[in-house]
Parts: sequence; structure tokens; C-alpha cells
Amino acid sequence: MHIRNFIGGKWINAKGKRTFDSLNPADNRRIVAKAPLSGREDIDLAVAAAREALAGWRRKPAPRRGEILFRAGELLIREKQRVGELVTTEMGKVLAEGLGDVQEAIDMAFYMAGEGRRMQGETVPSELPDKDCKSLREPLGVVALITPWNFPTAIPAWKIFAALICGNTVVFKPSSDTPACAAALVQILEEAGVPPGVVNMVCGSGADVGEYLVTHAGVDAVSFTGSCAAGERLEGLLGRMHRPLATEMGGKNAIIIMADADLSLALEGVLWGAFGTSGQRCTAASRVVVHEKVHEGFIDMLAGAAKHLRLGDGLLEGTDVGPLINEQQYMKVLDYIRIGSGEGAQLITGGMAVTAGACAHGFFIAPTVFAQVTPNMRIAREEIFGPVVSVVKCSGLDEAMGIVNNVPFGLSAAIYSRDVNTTARAERDLQTGIVYVNASTIGAEIQLPFGGWRHSGSGHPEAGGRGGALDFYTRIKVVYRDFSGRLQKAQIDK
Ligand code: NAD
Repeated sequence: MHIRNFIGGKWINAKGKRTFDSLNPADNRRIVAKAPLSGREDIDLAVAAAREALAGWRRKPAPRRGEILFRAGELLIREKQRVGELVTTEMGKVLAEGLGDVQEAIDMAFYMAGEGRRMQGETVPSELPDKDCKSLREPLGVVALITPWNFPTAIPAWKIFAALICGNTVVFKPSSDTPACAAALVQILEEAGVPPGVVNMVCGSGADVGEYLVTHAGVDAVSFTGSCAAGERLEGLLGRMHRPLATEMGGKNAIIIMADADLSLALEGVLWGAFGTSGQRCTAASRVVVHEKVHEGFIDMLAGAAKHLRLGDGLLEGTDVGPLINEQQYMKVLDYIRIGSGEGAQLITGGMAVTAGACAHGFFIAPTVFAQVTPNMRIAREEIFGPVVSVVKCSGLDEAMGIVNNVPFGLSAAIYSRDVNTTARAERDLQTGIVYVNASTIGAEIQLPFGGWRHSGSGHPEAGGRGGALDFYTRIKVVYRDFSGRLQKAQIDK
């Protein structure tokens, strides 16, 4: 497959004619796509196209913009199987998760299409007669959108659909691990009737064209999802430029299991929270804090179940866990396994690369469980982003919440307990942007805001309507209209 950049409504090669390959992580001998390795001149073209298209798009009535998103949602339904299989082929997650990735984009398309008929500001009474006051939502302008590889359809859709409904035009730089998934989404937007220049896509390296894009003089705002290292760098750069920036970054999410929990339910939550998407979700459960009364028994249950998970190509029926995305990530996860053993954690199961049979040419690591983990170990504090879970023992809710909260991240946390008072205290005191009760740390719904606290994000949540995406992708204009036809002295006398 040959991918091109999409600029001004045309699919074009990078000016420099260079390309890079995206590989199938389940079998890295297979090239999924050749994509343009763009340079700064390609970004310049894309930003110019987005600027040119801005005036027409922002004036198009929001309900009409919504009709285009509605069509995109319908096209995504038509193409769900094809795009879901592409997600699995290019990113590695199992097909059910690949289809789920596309479903999030479908949900977001319809939700944001509806926002076109709301887009509410406020009207409030004036202090004076014959005067009215209101606030309106205006687009930010040209927005640069930078996305990771782990949700290669859903995360670009969250950002692009929200930006569009608010009247912004877009320059989108996807992850270099998933350019084909990005192109599939943009093709759908093109077919849905997005006018030329309103959405532009440029592939290429983050450090080079990504950074050039977000600091470009023609860009008005930036939304970034990815690692803390890159996100914090952008916070430094863009903060100095006073440019609006939303960052969604890493996590060190935890599940608390109390002594009265339904342990089979909790086991299922840990298995899919920790090993689903091979642990490569920002909300993946990478710590489990278990009450001492059920600690030993739960570890046995978890180790037994983790051993039976089947690794392989996510397109094959019966595969539970796919590969890691690339060699760099694979080496990083293996390194953390060595760090955990070196720190004195007890390896209960997994802990190694899987290279036999059908896994011979992919980046596979066995689902790994560490016990005897203490809260200050690196494996209990740093994001691993792989199928590795650390079990920490606790003696009660306060200690458990202390452990969960005492890391720099604050994205997602979960508690399993049958006691309503216990779960209510957890809801109140867990210091994360998302809290789950008797459910795992994963699985957000797009009608609510999604975002992390502290090092997990800048606090501009995405998805959702007001309180989420609309608040980031619009700015408020306040309008006072005086229809008295005279000087209203009361305002001056204040
Ligand atoms: P990454 O930071 O390496 O890359 C993310 C994107 O940023 C890519 O498109 C990359 O090319 C670009 N990029 C990198 N450096 C850049 C720079 N200096 N300027 C501009 N762009 C740059 O992250 P990744 O490996 O693709 O994704 C994994 C990370 O993403 C994990 O840390 C995970 O927790 C995080 N993530 C967070 C969320 C969330 O919503 N909080 C969701 C998914 C993934």
C-alpha cells in the first residue's frame, strides 16, 4: 500500500520524495504501507491550505458541518470491518479491539455531528435596561493534531471530529507506526464531503516535522496525545508562545481489590486492563493493589489465567494478546522486566519474549505478573506500556489509595469492592481523571470528557461536549449589545 500526504484536497507525495515503511508488528517481515517521510516544506503547504480553507469552513453553519460528520459516521460503519482489520494489521491489537477502535470513531462522529446543533454559549440578563449579554463559541483557527499509534483510528477521530464541528481547520500528523490507519480515516472524511484544505494530513517524524508543525506561525492551537517526554517538551515550547495546547500523556493506572471484592470479576478486570492491547493503552492497569486477606489467593488466580492467554497475530481467531508495536517498545518492556527482577520483585509468570512458532517474526512478550512489589520500585512508578502488571499488597483502603495516588501520573484508577461506602470514598479520594467502580481501568465513553491529571495531561480533557472537546476547540467571545440608543450612566457610575 502506498500512502500519500493529503494537502488541499489532494493526495501528494512528500516534496523530498522520501518514504518510510510501516511494518506489521505480528510479522515484521511484512510491510503494511510505504508512507511519505515529509519535510518542513510539506508542513508549510499543509498549513497554508488549512489557513486558506478556514474562512469558508468557520462560516459554514455548524449543523451543516455536522451533516458531513454524520456522513463520515455512516461511511465508517460501512468500512468498519476493513478499517478494523487494517488497525490489527498495522498496530497489532486483536481484531475485536481493532473493530472497537473504529467503533469509537463512529460514536464520536455521531456525537460531534449532534454538537453542531448545540454549540451552546450563554445568554445572561444585563444590569441595564435595553441591553443584552451573551457569550459565543468561536473556532480557534488552524489546529495541529499530533497522535500516537495505540488507538490509530479512535484518537485521530476524537481530535479531528471535535476540531471540525467547532469550525477549525486541521493539520494532522499521525504516528509513523500507523500511517495507513490515518490515511483510511482521512479518505473517509474526503468521501463524506469535507471541503479541500479543511483536513490535511502530513506523515513524518515527530521530532522533525511534528515539532515544526506545532510551532509553525500559521498554527493557532495544538492537541497532542503521546508520551510524557514529547508532551512535556511541547508544553515548554508552546507555553512560551502562549499557544493553546491540550496534552494527553502517560499513565500508571491501578486497580484496588478489597477483601470483599467479587474476585472473579476483579480477575477479569485485571486480565483485560493489564494485557488487553498488550498493555499498550494509556489507561492500562499496570498496578494491582490487593488487600492482604485475599492477596495470595488472587495472585494464584491471576498467574493461572495469564498463563492461558494465547499470543499471536490478532487477525487469527482465538488470539487473546497481540504483539508490541515495534522493536523499540519491545526492548523497553524487556528492559523493565529485567529492572523488576533486579529490584527484588518476584516474577510469577511470563517475563520473557515469545519467539516460537507463529510468534517468530513479531514483537511478542508473554503476559507478565510481578508480586512482592513495593510502591517505590521503578516498575510500580514508571509507565511500562506493555503486558506487565505489578501486584502490591495493602492492609486497607487508605493505604491502597495512598499507593495509587503517590505517583506522578493521574489518568485512571479502579476499585473492586461490594461495600458502597468503600467505593464512595474511593470515588471521592482517588486522584485521577477517571475512576472506575467494579470495572477495569479501561473503556471510556465518548459522551464524557476524557483526560488525565498531573503528569498525565494538561487538564484540557478530550471527547465529551461541554467540559471536554468543545471547551478546548473553541474560544469564548462575549458580546454586549445596547439597544437603548442613549448613554447608560449606570455603567459608568459603578
Ligand atoms: P510519542 O510521544 O512517541 O509520539 C506521539 C506522537 O507525537 C507521534 O505522532 C510522534 O511522531 C509525535 N512526536 C514525538 N515527538 C514530538 C515532538 N517533539 N514534537 C511534535 N510531535 C512529536 O508516543 P507514542 O509512543 O506514539 O504513544 C505512546 C504514549 O502515548 C504512551 O506514553 C501513552 O500513555 C500515551 N497515550 C496517552 C493517551 C491519553 O489519552 N492520555 C492515549 C494514548 C496514548
